[in-house]
Amino acid sequence: MRYHNITKADMLNGEGLRVVLWTSGCSHHCHACQNAITWNEEDGLVFDEKAKEEIYTELEKDWCSGLTLSGGDPLFCANRGELLEFLKEVRKRFPEKTIWCYTGYTWEELLEQRKNDKDLLGILELLDVLLDGKFVLHLANEKLHYVGSSNQYIIDVKKSLKENQKILYIDNNKILEGEKI
Ligand code: SF4
Repeated sequence: MRYHNITKADMLNGEGLRVVLWTSGCSHHCHACQNAITWNEEDGLVFDEKAKEEIYTELEKDWCSGLTLSGGDPLFCANRGELLEFLKEVRKRFPEKTIWCYTGYTWEELLEQRKNDKDLLGILELLDVLLDGKFVLHLANEKLHYVGSSNQYIIDVKKSLKENQKILYIDNNKILEGEKI
């Protein structure tokens, strides 16, 4: 797996101040994607031990709420095996920190894919929050929390897996209707 950046004290990609890993590789190619530079899986830096240590160092800080995976698509098929091993280590070292993950796949597509993909199955079980779906320009709305377009959902992964239905962590429809969350 390769990556483009590791950003720190990030307030835009999940709750609290987070460390964000921007992975390489994305097959969705959404129109008007703002990160097209990350599409090619061969671009960027090798995600090596030094990069992992850089993330662990951030997660050790009290004020760091957790790790967000973005990209690119962290769930790009070729990333999954390596990502799973990394997330196992993050969970082991930092059980109290949350893991959020952006992806261009929908929740429903991932549930289907996990039947034949043990790496994906393992990754989903380690996530707290999944932000799903492609960016759709005509559904873009700057008022949405943490996502770019209204087709994208912020999903509570643990509850959704346990209750076998998609349960939202933050409901952007309520926010658009003016409800406080
Ligand atoms: S899934 Fe994300 S990175 Fe991939 S093309 Fe769509 S907006 Fe860009």
